[in-house]
Amino acid sequence: MQDSASRFGYFVSPDRQIDFDRNNHEVASKVAAAEPGLNWCISCGTCAATCTAAKFTDFSLRRIILQVKRGELKGLAREAQKCMLCGKCQLVCPRGISTRNLILQINRVLQSENL
Ligand code: SF4
Ligand code: SF4
Repeated sequence: MQDSASRFGYFVSPDRQIDFDRNNHEVASKVAAAEPGLNWCISCGTCAATCTAAKFTDFSLRRIILQVKRGELKGLAREAQKCMLCGKCQLVCPRGISTRNLILQINRVLQSENL
């Protein structure tokens, strides 16, 4: 195994291809049924820019929403718990999404699915 110095700092990036058909879309369906705002999100990142939890952790509501929509659920339950439910993101979301309810529904569905 070569170290990064002998590879001149170059390396092959891990494959980030999303196999959408093989991912779990049950969670997204259940969350959207309880909070339709999941489908209104345009991934603008305004919520992440103002997020209280993001000041102390690497939490990003924008990323959480994207992962739910893509069905990429690995590690999501732990990540979603970092939200403090302060509601700041709800004040700035340009789509008027009830973001607090969205994160509550994501947590609820992940817990009910034992994910
Ligand atoms: S409610 Fe959660 S996601 Fe929204 S700003 Fe507060 S900590 Fe961040
Ligand atoms: S601010 Fe609203 S529309 Fe923008 S990424 Fe966050 S939830 Fe989605």
